Amino acid sequence: MNAPPGGVGHLSGGCQTMRLVEQDGSVLHEIADDGTRGRPEVQRGELRWILLDSLPAEAVRWGHKVSGTRALGGGRHEVAFADGSTVVTSLLVGADGAWSRVRPLLSDATPEYVGTSFVETYLFDADTRHTGSAKVGGGGSMIAPSPGKEIFAHRENGDTLHAYVALSSPQDWFAAIDFTDASAAATRITREFGGWAPELTALITDAGIPPVLRPHYALPAGHRWSRVPGVILLGDAAHLAAPNGEGASLAMLDGAELGKTLAAYADGTEAALTEYEQAVCARSTEPVAFEGTETQRIDSESNTPQAMLKMITEQSH
Ligand SMILES: Cc1cc2nc3c(=O)[nH]c(=O)nc-3n(C[C@H](O)[C@H](O)[C@H](O)COP(=O)(O)OP(=O)(O)OC[C@H]3O[C@@H](n4cnc5c(N)ncnc54)[C@H](O)[C@@H]3O)c2cc1C
Repeated sequence: MNAPPGGVGHLSGGCQTMRLVEQDGSVLHEIADDGTRGRPEVQRGELRWILLDSLPAEAVRWGHKVSGTRALGGGRHEVAFADGSTVVTSLLVGADGAWSRVRPLLSDATPEYVGTSFVETYLFDADTRHTGSAKVGGGGSMIAPSPGKEIFAHRENGDTLHAYVALSSPQDWFAAIDFTDASAAATRITREFGGWAPELTALITDAGIPPVLRPHYALPAGHRWSRVPGVILLGDAAHLAAPNGEGASLAMLDGAELGKTLAAYADGTEAALTEYEQAVCARSTEPVAFEGTETQRIDSESNTPQAMLKMITEQSH
């Protein structure tokens, strides 16, 4: 694990306004913040500091990249680090994300590309330098969906607009784009949004830093494993899904439940892990939600503002 940088993160769970926008930039629908903070949001960097600040300083060993794990028998495991050091565990919790080095102890499953990727951009000084995009984005989040592509923007601290431009394309297609050439990459991605309002495409062309490609991977739906003494998974290591606005909350829920269950079974770690594991495995089969609303797949023909509005209206009744 490497120490986290400060600064702007990119995590949103809802709250504030949520706009549904058409390709021409007109606002079809806006869900107002109801003031209850029922779905509070926090930026990724801030969340990491909140969690780290709650731990004793020596709890995290920075600069220890796990290079491999192996079973020693009797519920014990050896964890090897890139610097050549090792530790032996009595309980090994694999909270190491999508490409977990712990998961292979329990499961052969590997993440697969789901067919969509985000191109991530940031626009700084939005209210003075990017007024069109700031206006269409509103005060919270904005989504402009269409079959196979979509633009999502979110207002963040420090007058920043953070955007995810989603495209349903194979990895080969993205590989042909040179993301080290920021301007050429932005031009190529923008070409996919021909006819869209300039204040929407400016979220790609006017970015303050080079666009970053974020391919989406997932573990198979219903990913399960058989109990192996002394080792357990949580978060993306257990149930990686394509981004749906819930992943961070689920990872924290897993962690909280694991802690509570271990505390409740003070003399029986294996019984606690068995109970926890049933809850965690169920999470990889539950339907995805985004901003509290069931999502359409980006590649679906019905990924349109009108279909999304219909869904929101039906779910609010
Ligand atoms: C583009 C994108 C946008 C997303 N947006 C949202 C969103 O808006 N809202 C939301 O809720 N979720 C979002 N998610 C999903 C969310 O990021 C994850 O579900 C969540 O971070 C999972 O938490 P985790 O702790 O399981 O894994 P991670 O957050 O990936 O944490 C794993 C940790 O393990 C460490 N690690 C990994 N490998 C090793 C190793 N070999 N050795 C040592 N340490 C290691 C990493 O450094 C990291 O600190 C998004 C995901 C993507 C890809």
